[in-house]
Amino acid sequence: MGMKILITGGAGFIASHLCDALLARGHEVIAVDNLLTGNLDNLAGLRYRDFEFIRHDITIPLWLEVDEVYNLACPAAPGHYQYNPIKTTKTSVMGAINCLGLAKRVKARVFQASTSEVYGDPEIHPQREDYWGHVNPIGIRGVYDEAKRFSEAMVMAYHRTHGLETRIVRIFNTYGNRMRLDDGRVLPNFMGQALRGEPLTVYGTGDQTRSFCHVSDLVEGIVRLMESDSPEPVNLGNPEEVTILQFAKEILELSGSGSPIVFKPLPQDDP
Ligand code: NAD
Ligand code: UDP
Repeated sequence: MGMKILITGGAGFIASHLCDALLARGHEVIAVDNLLTGNLDNLAGLRYRDFEFIRHDITIPLWLEVDEVYNLACPAAPGHYQYNPIKTTKTSVMGAINCLGLAKRVKARVFQASTSEVYGDPEIHPQREDYWGHVNPIGIRGVYDEAKRFSEAMVMAYHRTHGLETRIVRIFNTYGNRMRLDDGRVLPNFMGQALRGEPLTVYGTGDQTRSFCHVSDLVEGIVRLMESDSPEPVNLGNPEEVTILQFAKEILELSGSGSPIVFKPLPQDDP
């Protein structure tokens, strides 16, 4: 039977795809977003009877009657979450508190978007869910990493204390359409640079690794986890890691671009 579902950060890259997927399954969706990094174009065409958009900042409590809550509100690209670092932490911390409070009141199941960044600069590869991580709490990534770690702790506390049905996904780097081309992340940077014939900017030696998951696979994983009965955090991403230098070479090969590769300083605490 169709449910009424709240999705925070609904105008963003991943959550807008989640809106599509849940509407396609016959649910009613309410998307909440303050449009910090989101874009209403991502929701174009969805304004019909099963969909509603509310412009709202999730650091402020909200009162809605829903069956499920998906909390994805939070800037995700390093350049975006470091732009207003205090607000980033408030969004994850107070956003989690407000979503959990709402869910407790209406007895809704809650999904919390966490991140591979909870592992920080990991000492083991690949990271399993039982690894506690290696985060620098006072580095420039701390505002994002620690706030996501807090949100996981708070979700588990609501689960244990109030018996709330909760799900946590640790999302690894995700790509796909509706990604912002100017967000400074490696995929849009390299693709844009290759297509414009500009040098590809590899930070550090390029030996650092990432894995890239298509947004359609991620969203399917999120929805399937929500339908399961596991409150423990689950990693979602592509299991194959690639070095950033190798990734740059693959983009040059696929695009047929003659751009050179240049090396730039590695940002602080870049794992
Ligand atoms: P995004 O920036 O496209 O989406 C985030 C959305 O949250 C935006 O629409 C933004 O306007 C909204 N938002 C920010 N602050 C808000 C606030 N205070 N109140 C209401 N709305 C607010 O980023 P994304 O890549 O779609 O990420 C979505 C979620 O997934 C985030 O929680 C992020 O931490 C997590 N995540 C993403 C990735 C990835 O590779 N994209 C990796 C790990 C985790
Ligand atoms: N990176 C890079 N060149 C760029 C942009 C990013 O070498 O133009 C590197 C960055 O240092 C990091 C990796 O690519 O090691 C992924 O960065 P991104 O900002 O996409 O996301 P992160 O995984 O760090 O959150």
